[in-house]
Amino acid sequence: MAGPAALGEQEFIDHIARRVKSGRWPPVLGIGDDAAVLNLPPRSQILLTTDLLTDGVHFKRERTPGRLLGRKALAVNLSDIAAMGGLPHSCVVSIGFPRRTPASYARDLAAGLAGMARRYGVALVGGDTCAARALFVNVTLLGIVEPGRAVSRSGARVGDGLYVTGALGASAAGLELLQGSRRSAASGRRAAAGRSVETARRRAIAAHLDPQPRTTAGRALGTTGIASAMIDLSDGLSIDLPRLCNASRSGAVILRAALPVAREAALLLGGRPALERSVTGGEDYELLFAAPPGCEPLVEGLSRRLGLPMTRIGQIVPRREGVSMLDAEGYYRPLPKGRFEHFPRRRR
Ligand code: ADP
Ligand code: MG
Repeated sequence: MAGPAALGEQEFIDHIARRVKSGRWPPVLGIGDDAAVLNLPPRSQILLTTDLLTDGVHFKRERTPGRLLGRKALAVNLSDIAAMGGLPHSCVVSIGFPRRTPASYARDLAAGLAGMARRYGVALVGGDTCAARALFVNVTLLGIVEPGRAVSRSGARVGDGLYVTGALGASAAGLELLQGSRRSAASGRRAAAGRSVETARRRAIAAHLDPQPRTTAGRALGTTGIASAMIDLSDGLSIDLPRLCNASRSGAVILRAALPVAREAALLLGGRPALERSVTGGEDYELLFAAPPGCEPLVEGLSRRLGLPMTRIGQIVPRREGVSMLDAEGYYRPLPKGRFEHFPRRRR
């Protein structure tokens, strides 16, 4: 019995299996055999991605409802497939449960995973379940894309515009609320009406615990050929923009005034800190993409069609100019630094 307290491994697997609906491409053979058997659409390339969420590193179980953890574990992978311009196809899920995990938490986790898979038309076709010191959830997601149409990080060219979907900084604000480091921030904004602060708090926490991957937008940016390069903002602009630039052997200039700071973040954190978090915060799971000069009307059209803001925040420049942010006074400054590092170098 490797499963959570009072819920056996087999019981847990059965619980997930009962909730799984076949996705857009039902597997030939799903949960229950030694391996899943999948049908792939003819003439497609496969995208394969994986992401691991661990208690104490990526989330704290006490403040993360099981259902939302299940959704997020899949969402972060869906975001990666979206950033490649692909369609999510099938996934497997490996879970490690500490023996003291309440059975109800495990059931909620299963429901969150299966529900999210259903919502995005993904077939959940298998996984592994074991006992562990810390709760972890690892999803491996397979996506498909037309041959040669995957959008990499490396296709940006000097002169391309840089855009982001949605708004930035809400997830960081939500994390600060969950950590309790911002308990009084909202009450500090004296004049703000109580109800709008309450709404902002709820939205910020939802942005952090229950991010919505930009599946439709990523796919549209890929199939239309608008995006020359794309990356999802999991670690924040300050880390993910240099990643895109390095891959494209380019630099970039961001216009500080153009950054779409999330309203919730501005209300809860105040203008300046919100702007800083919109660059360093991470976990917004919006898409950052480059598009050739002249594509602006196409981006605007797509944005309108999808009802999703796509904001031009800067442009690609030659590599020697580095990555910088142009502020209101006309100074080019380095991007503020993010804070999180999995394997920080020890100070000597
Ligand atoms: P094995 O001994 O080959 O690892 P298991 O008994 O672990 O097989 O798994 C039995 C079946 O249940 C397999 O089809 C596996 O893919 C599926 N499964 C196990 N854990 C999970 C999970 N967390 N989510 C979905 N399917 C799972
Ligand atoms: Mg197994």
